[in-house]
Amino acid sequence: MELSREAIVEGMQEILGAENVDTDEQLLQQRSIDNFRKLENIFGVYTLPPPAAIAHVGSTEEVAAVLAFAEQHGINVVPRTGGTATEGGLETHVPNSIVLDGGRMNEIIGVDAYNMQATAQCGVPLQELEDRARAVGLTTGHSPQSKPVAHMGGLVATRSIGQFSTLYGGIEDMVVGLEAVFPGGQVTRIKNVPRRAAGPDIRHVVIGNEGALCFITEVTVKLFPYLPENNLFLGWTLKSMKTGFEALREVMVAGYKPSVARLYDPGDGGIHFSHFAGEDDCVLLFMAEGAAGIARATAEGIDEIVARYPECVKVDSGLIEAWFNDLVWDASKITAEDERIRRTRNVNRTTEISGDWSSINDIYEAAIERIRNEIPDLTILGGHSSHSYINGTNMYFNYFYDLVDCGPEEEVTKYYLPIISIICEETLRHGGSIVHHHGIGKARAPWVKDEYGSSYPILETLKHAFDPSGIMNRGTIIPG
Ligand SMILES: Cc1cc2nc3c(=O)[nH]c(=O)nc-3n(C[C@H](O)[C@H](O)[C@H](O)COP(=O)(O)OP(=O)(O)OC[C@H]3O[C@@H](n4cnc5c(N)ncnc54)[C@H](O)[C@@H]3O)c2cc1C
Repeated sequence: MELSREAIVEGMQEILGAENVDTDEQLLQQRSIDNFRKLENIFGVYTLPPPAAIAHVGSTEEVAAVLAFAEQHGINVVPRTGGTATEGGLETHVPNSIVLDGGRMNEIIGVDAYNMQATAQCGVPLQELEDRARAVGLTTGHSPQSKPVAHMGGLVATRSIGQFSTLYGGIEDMVVGLEAVFPGGQVTRIKNVPRRAAGPDIRHVVIGNEGALCFITEVTVKLFPYLPENNLFLGWTLKSMKTGFEALREVMVAGYKPSVARLYDPGDGGIHFSHFAGEDDCVLLFMAEGAAGIARATAEGIDEIVARYPECVKVDSGLIEAWFNDLVWDASKITAEDERIRRTRNVNRTTEISGDWSSINDIYEAAIERIRNEIPDLTILGGHSSHSYINGTNMYFNYFYDLVDCGPEEEVTKYYLPIISIICEETLRHGGSIVHHHGIGKARAPWVKDEYGSSYPILETLKHAFDPSGIMNRGTIIPG
């Protein structure tokens, strides 16, 4: 029999103690969404059923006990750590869900400078782990813009990626081992070894599961030497994205590993570079880092390659360095952006996809053209590539619109989802992936079958095998 809201709260209080169970109505409403419906928080208008309780867990045993309770009573559980999700992964569509909050599991268990790895509980903000590593001359190499606010559990759960990915990779390249709890309360530890060939790599059942298979309690990630004194910055303006993609491709194919490799179109670049780039200019930029000889050779190699493109006009490296130093989003920047939206009703949204070198420019051009023609009230439309690989790159569409003739609660259906639809359709049409690094969440779940094609049954089988009662974050990744 389905438990009442009150019985769920009582159950959580018995397991965790009353002081670790939040039931404040306003907080519950705020926890019914994430940044996908951020206007609901900004304007205080909520449309989803609030969860029954926010359960603050302090240990793996408590996570196991909550998941056993949820499994026994068929209660939907929405895992949460930093709360910076952008794709609806934190939304509580199922009435009387439990928000399982790992934010208080915030201990850095160890920084092992000899074996070059660090272990942290799921609720450790990445910035704290990074600061601890830097204190001994090391870095995690992971630097998503949400670094000050996102936590290790969520970063692993979403397959996040940082600004230095072209050198260090995404989180999937950094995770050595981890601990997670599956529905029913089964605790799993995947040990820390440099590599193994003992069957499939089961880390990947957990990395990127978005809380739809299990709750991550602890992660171990690699560490690298931190040598910022060797950083070198390079930048050019140019007239076309097509040329920029060609130059980016050549750099990657030649085997150079800049930590940052970005290409901005005029729409997106105008937000950051109008003090040196013209209105129609694209901007191509790189950062080289690492041991001095490697950084120098990387910068020289990139310089040589880009010099082959007469369209590219070099800019002062100090301008690129200044831009770079202002890139990370802390809580105060997020609050200021929310305040700007409240004041102006002008909304900024983003969507990221990936494609190989043959298709990325076509995806970019087709999506931009359709958005421009089909979506009303746009004030800025553009994009940039920020994570490159030997076989392709990503595109991060960045767009702003004014809310015209609609309430903030209608923004998602009137503007945001129609734009996401166009981007997903054009990406799929050209053979790319509809999600590069923010996760599928609930927002892009309608396209997940098309994204996976004939491999979709593998995903469905994983869900049924690990979450047979369907209690884990219903509607996330797998459509509800
Ligand atoms: C300003 C801003 C900048 C951003 N920049 C980047 C960027 O540069 N790169 C990037 O990749 N992303 C970026 N993001 C997106 C977001 O920060 C990442 O998705 C991040 O990994 C989420 O971590 P979190 O701790 O906030 O997770 P949450 O928001 O709490 O959760 C995210 C998802 O993971 C699940 N989850 C959370 N914790 C756990 C757990 N312990 N076990 C299992 N599942 C869990 C949740 O259910 C949800 O589906 C940005 C977001 C914002 C708001």
